[in-house]
Order: sequence, then C-alpha cells, then structure tokens
Amino acid sequence: MRTGRRQWLARVAAGGAGALLPFARAGAEPSQARTPSTAPAPPPAAAPSPSPGTGELALKDFQPRSMLHVEEHKVARARFPVIDVHTHLSWSGGLKGTETIQFLAAPPDLLPVMDRKNVQIMCNLTAGTGPALAASIQRFDQAVPGRFLTYTEPMWARTNQPGYAQAQADEIEKAKRAGAHGVKVLKTLGLFLRENLTSGPLVKVDDPRFDPMWDACGRVGLPVSIHVSDPEAFFLPIDRFNERYDELGHHPDWSFHDHDFPSNAEILAARDRMLARHPGTQFILHHVGHDAENLAFVSETLDRFPNTTVEIGARIGELGRQPRTARKFFDRYQDRILFGTDAVPPPDGENYPQQVFKDELYEIYFRFLETEDEYFDYAPAAIPPQGRWRIYGLGLPDSILKKVYHDNAARILGIKS
Ligand SMILES: [Zn+2]
Repeated sequence: MRTGRRQWLARVAAGGAGALLPFARAGAEPSQARTPSTAPAPPPAAAPSPSPGTGELALKDFQPRSMLHVEEHKVARARFPVIDVHTHLSWSGGLKGTETIQFLAAPPDLLPVMDRKNVQIMCNLTAGTGPALAASIQRFDQAVPGRFLTYTEPMWARTNQPGYAQAQADEIEKAKRAGAHGVKVLKTLGLFLRENLTSGPLVKVDDPRFDPMWDACGRVGLPVSIHVSDPEAFFLPIDRFNERYDELGHHPDWSFHDHDFPSNAEILAARDRMLARHPGTQFILHHVGHDAENLAFVSETLDRFPNTTVEIGARIGELGRQPRTARKFFDRYQDRILFGTDAVPPPDGENYPQQVFKDELYEIYFRFLETEDEYFDYAPAAIPPQGRWRIYGLGLPDSILKKVYHDNAARILGIKS
C-alpha cells in the first residue's frame, strides 16, 4: 500500500505502525490508499528564518522538507528471516581489558522488536574474553537458544606483553570451546592500539604478532568480523567541503585527519596484506568492506580474496545514494553480502541515530533492500545524521533478499535452518 511520508511518520510516532501492510515491490500489487490531508501540523520552527538570499540561515536550523510526491512503502517485517550479523548488546573494556563487560540490554528488551521485524538472530560482537565472554553467552545464547550468538574479541591490553602471539591464539581456541561464534576486531586495530597501548606508534593491521591469532580463527572455524577503517571523509579536514561535517561535529573523536594517523588507503593496504597471508580464515569485512563510497574497490577486494564477505551495517546512506551501482554490486556479489545494522540499544544507541536499535531502524533497512522507493531517510532522525542526503531503494528480488537476509550468514556461521 501507499502512504504519505508525514502520515507514515505520524503513525510510527503513534505506535500504530502495525496497521500498515508489507510493501508492494515494483510490478506487484498496486497500492490503493492515497495520502489523505490528515498530516499533522508542522512543529514550531527552531529559530526565526532570516530573509532569503542573505546567507544568514545557520546550517543547524536548515531542515528542508521534501515536496516530492512519490510512492512510500512501509516494510514492517522482513520478507525472509533475518540474521543481523552486526550488533553491540554489550561493550567490553577494550584497551582497558576485555575481561570486563557492560551490558546494554537483556533479551526481554530485544525479543519483541526481533519478533515484530522477523529478526531471527542477533550477533553480539563486543563481548570480550574470559569471564566477560562467558557472561554474554549465559545472558543471551543460553538464556534464549537460537536467537543470539556471542563473539569474542582479541585481548588488546596484553598485546605488548611477551608471549602474546601464542597466548592470543590459545585464547581463540578457548573462546571457541566456551561457545563463541566469531571474533570481532574493532578499529582499535589500525587506529587506536599503539605499541604501549595508548602511546607510541600505532600498531599496523598486518602486524605479525597477530598471525597466529588469524590462523587459529581459521583452524577452529570462527569467522573474523573486522572493521579497520572508516568513511573517506573521516580522514579529511572538518571543513565546509567535508560531506560529513555534521557527523564529525557531533563525534570529533571519529576524525582521523592529521596527527599521526595513516591514510585510509594505507590502512586498507595493510589489511589486504594481512588477508593475503591467511587464506584459510573467513573474514567478514564490515561496513561494506570499509569503503562503501567506492564499490569498484570493494569489488576488487572480493575478487582478490575469496575468503571474504562484506556486511552493510551503518552504510545504507552510502549504498542508497548510488542505487544503480549498488544494485549491480548486489547482483554480482549476492552470495558475499551479509545483513547487519551495527545496532546499539537505546539509550546508548540514540547517540548514533543510524544505529539505534528499534523498529524504525529495521524498517528503513528493509525498505532500502526490498522497495524501489525514492529519496527517503536512511536513519530515524530529523536531520540525516551522517550527511545531508537521502537514499533510494534497491528493490532486490526474493532470490537475492533471502541470501542477504539469511542464507549467506547461515552458511558462514554454520547455522542449520
Ligand atoms: Zn559496530
């Protein structure tokens, strides 16, 4: 069915979203409902508007509303069961020690949304090691079998200790026996971890002390979920030319311009040298291979390294503003793309609207993948949080949707349907 943007938002806000039916893809059932004139009154302006043409309107006060009259389809429920391979239901202590853990949610906070959205499994990536890992497995995997999979993380705080390389490889085997389903590598590696943990030169992604760990992952069959670089604009000055000016303004610590940071290209080159040395290990390259702006480069990576797949979390803002290139990418690599959102439960997740765990977040992903809707928000937020653009749906066929939502992840994680 068809519904107007404002009507849709009003219903979502009112919690009445369930009354809407799943979308109609191009060529499927035509819509019947036209936008009625029941749109709510616009909210009061945040600031008085200066005279047009003076250039005095502040960027923060500019909130243009699209006047396009185009079809809008709400996708309340994914067309196939979903495995979300990228969520953060806890944070370990990271560089301060991965044996400690802080939980952001419990299963009762998550299951109602999962059931409504047809999310079968959430992978909790950041669960640390040892007692932290065990606590996450108990809280999620064991409490609700079949709905949560917990991953372990490298012991970053020990990387400068003698014997680390072998100890870390052993720890991977222990984590596997404890019930971990994968290994998560945050951009700690490449952008934060230094020789003396927080001081000294940055440790490179292809540092040989991690080689035994990568090999152990392949040996015991734990996929590595890795994120070592970021959007290209994070490596550029935060100025009027930076397309992520708002986002970097809210999160200045996400800027890797200047100081002693390597370039994006240097990080990715180090990653590729590492991938080449470990062909027996399965790597899930998060955020569309860490370079969603450059799908030609990501294609080269996938062609070069058969032991890799990519995940789409927090990058539909990039894929959706190049819908024709992205659609070809999904056609060509339909067996190598995994569904992920990078979801973080509220209230933490509200700091990153493109990642906040709630119904609306999943609905946007489903709309992007399933419909051919045009020019819609990629995040549930009044101002697009990553950059001031909107996106276009891919309208993927069922055969590809099923692989991306479920089958590709099930294959890599060894989940029997
Ligand atoms: Zn993440």
